[in-house]
Amino acid sequence: MAIIAQILVAAGSGARFEGDIPKQYAELGGKTVLRRTLDNLRAALPDTRVFVIVHADGDHRLAESLNGFEGMTITVPGGVTRCQSVRAGMATLEDLEPDYVLIHDAARPFVSAKVMADLVAMLETHSAAVPVLPVVDAVKTVQDDILGEDVPRSSLRRMQTPQGLRYKEVKPLYQSLTKDADFADDIAIAQNAGLTIGMVKGDERTFKITWPEDLEKAARMLNSETYMATGSGFDVHRIEKGDSLWLCGIEIAAGFSLQGHSDADVGLHALADAIYGALAEGDIGDHFPPTDDRWKGAESHVFLSHAKDRVLSRGGSLQHVDITLICEKPKVKPHRDAMRARIAELLGLTVNRVSVKATTTEKLGFTGRGEGIAAQATATIELPDG
Ligand code: MG
Repeated sequence: MAIIAQILVAAGSGARFEGDIPKQYAELGGKTVLRRTLDNLRAALPDTRVFVIVHADGDHRLAESLNGFEGMTITVPGGVTRCQSVRAGMATLEDLEPDYVLIHDAARPFVSAKVMADLVAMLETHSAAVPVLPVVDAVKTVQDDILGEDVPRSSLRRMQTPQGLRYKEVKPLYQSLTKDADFADDIAIAQNAGLTIGMVKGDERTFKITWPEDLEKAARMLNSETYMATGSGFDVHRIEKGDSLWLCGIEIAAGFSLQGHSDADVGLHALADAIYGALAEGDIGDHFPPTDDRWKGAESHVFLSHAKDRVLSRGGSLQHVDITLICEKPKVKPHRDAMRARIAELLGLTVNRVSVKATTTEKLGFTGRGEGIAAQATATIELPDG
């Protein structure tokens, strides 16, 4: 396992941030921004040490921000540049000799564990790694308040932090930084030395608190609580003569078919209804009326994909689904893994979040007499409040 150290740069004076306190000490949901960032870094990579770089003339909130992190604080004189701050941090890593260093800005409290894992993976093959995001707005130059040329945005990327570096390769670069060196970030230092830089996909949530309104946005994000919703679905289709039986997204040579307007996949219908149920958005018949000829003979994965897309458009995420098929035949067990794999694929879930089970009704009732197949399902979804 690679040894990873983290450096958290919290020595900025917040020149663009109104008010009399540097932004890293502003309050965000009962903690300072610095403390929140620190806690999130630790949660994302629990087995790493985080070194925090602060001004020697630090704010009185410094102590509360670093409570429990004593001994991991590096103080630098006020007024030094960002790269000089990181240089001071790098100098303290000599005993630890980490393989990789991740350097993060304290003003970006919402770090992404996935981005950090991607950076570490990228450092296996590159000297440095940076999270980047595309530029979605049109970009133009401005000179003396006159709008100028278009800048092709497809060639532009926004840089985020944490930025990852291979310690041994960058150590001499920081050691030889002159006092007036002022690179914009750590990737610029690596780039200047001709090192290979890998890019990973950044995360919009990891925005930088720069202006007072950014702090309001951060507070809103913190307050955007989620809730878990569970929906249930039930469906029945009549057995009829035929040779194509669709069940939970796969075709089975059962010697009979199910009757229905669509391909009559009773399992996927129950599952789609469970998802609509968790969303409280009606049922499959509301979204795909059986009177509409467009859905005649439709493949049922269309319904399930629609239900999944509704989850995504609500800002939710599917957590788990569970289907029970109720029939005497066919035997479900030989097909269970293929069913789970297909549903996982359709929903974008890992297979361990997809359950398919089967039962009989002891030859009782319509399923017992082999007149039809029933299915019931539950879906668990995490949804944003409001
Ligand atoms: Mg149905």
